[in-house]
Amino acid sequence: MKLKLLVFFNLMFITTHFAMCQNPAKNSLAVEKIWGQYDKYKEPGIKNRFMKHAEMMPLIPKHVDSRLVTIEEIGKSVRGRSINHLTAGRGKTKVMLWSQMHGDESTATMALFDMFNFLSSNDDNSELRKLILNNLELHFVPMLNPDGAQAWKRRNDLEIDINRDARMLVTPEGRALMELAKKLQPQIGFNLHDQNYLYSSGRSKNSATISFLAPAYNYPKDMNAVRKRATQIILSMNKALQTKSPGNVAKYNDDFDPRCFGDTFQGMEISTILIESGGYYHDPEKQFIRKLNFLALLTAFEAIAKSSYEKEDIKDYDAIPENENSLYDVFVKNVIITKEGREFKTHLGINRSQVRSTDNAAMSYSGRIAELGDQELVFGYDEIDASGLKFTPANIKTMTKAEWEKLTPQQELDLIKEGYLFVKWSDGPSPTGAIKNRLLNLTNNTENAVQEAGIGQNAQFLLTRDGKPVFAVVNGYKVDLSQPAKVLANTYGY
Ligand SMILES: [Zn+2]
Repeated sequence: MKLKLLVFFNLMFITTHFAMCQNPAKNSLAVEKIWGQYDKYKEPGIKNRFMKHAEMMPLIPKHVDSRLVTIEEIGKSVRGRSINHLTAGRGKTKVMLWSQMHGDESTATMALFDMFNFLSSNDDNSELRKLILNNLELHFVPMLNPDGAQAWKRRNDLEIDINRDARMLVTPEGRALMELAKKLQPQIGFNLHDQNYLYSSGRSKNSATISFLAPAYNYPKDMNAVRKRATQIILSMNKALQTKSPGNVAKYNDDFDPRCFGDTFQGMEISTILIESGGYYHDPEKQFIRKLNFLALLTAFEAIAKSSYEKEDIKDYDAIPENENSLYDVFVKNVIITKEGREFKTHLGINRSQVRSTDNAAMSYSGRIAELGDQELVFGYDEIDASGLKFTPANIKTMTKAEWEKLTPQQELDLIKEGYLFVKWSDGPSPTGAIKNRLLNLTNNTENAVQEAGIGQNAQFLLTRDGKPVFAVVNGYKVDLSQPAKVLANTYGY
């Protein structure tokens, strides 16, 4: 019976899968091989997404020395940090790429340095490397907004959003980019950003890990040869991404906005492609997404060098789902809660907001209840089917600081099973704020503030059956109490 069912479902999967995509996506052998060897090219000097200008600059000279790239300073940020233009290749098609126009959107900057390593290596992947360097003239502007990166914020230090400054050009960063584009007159441009990690690909459980846009160049959103080429290159990249992360590609809204660089460049006859890096399951530091960026760019370079994108039918662009807002970090379904003396069944959406460290070089997470009530077509990166389970406030365990410090993850999990989510030290005050790599929270209070489910409240509660905890939500993370103990990125001290 089981086997029969399995065969049936497999057949169903195969038929629907092939109905969905007539031509199953396939990468070139060269791209596949490079993907397999990605770790060799991954820039070890970039350990996380919070890289600053002062950390980025020392990564450039080795590529200049290897004669892969030449470097020129094309401007300075408001705070006087250099904006750099790196050039590689000597082909006939000029391609310009700029990243981190928004200071807190660094995924593509990381991938660009991985790409520099690939392009400057001397190994058995030289066939594709030569094809790219002989056919393209690549122009890179990594980290266009270094002041924003320093403060880990979107805007520049005039508090202007550079991507709404293509027309007025009051920002030195935007001016540098516009002057370079006018000087180079590239045929193709890549505008590299990050988007909200909670976006989904259509109304689905799939996160929009990479979203594309071939921006419109006028209000009627007309298609011309310039925009068509951008669309075709997107379709080539989409196929590559589907092989590694199926279902996680979406497209961005194409309403025309003349303040944006992508829309403006499209009108200047630069086929411009927006790439937005979103979220991916359990990849908050975006290191797999960095790898997907590398793949997308490598594929685009190959497709441009071979002109293979010209075979793409732009009608296929319609089939890429739109970005939607369908995801929570954790979605708890059918939980029984008690509120205002009434007991009822409902759903809870939980998100973890990001809290910057004081040096803007790390992030901690603070989980809150974002929604309560019936919901349709929404999903969670993690989900809990809480049918028959009750929302239950957690207890506070008192122990000494020394006892807390000795707790193993298993002992912390056992305490959760007994109904505790907080520890209060009996011998002095405990720290507040993020606590890394634990399962339990600390508190200086005598009572748990979360006594019933409420919007905006800390997501710290138990889900119980007959009084016994089955799941816990700890600082907005799902903890399955039937699974082995595993510490969380951070819990909290109150
Ligand atoms: Zn952006």
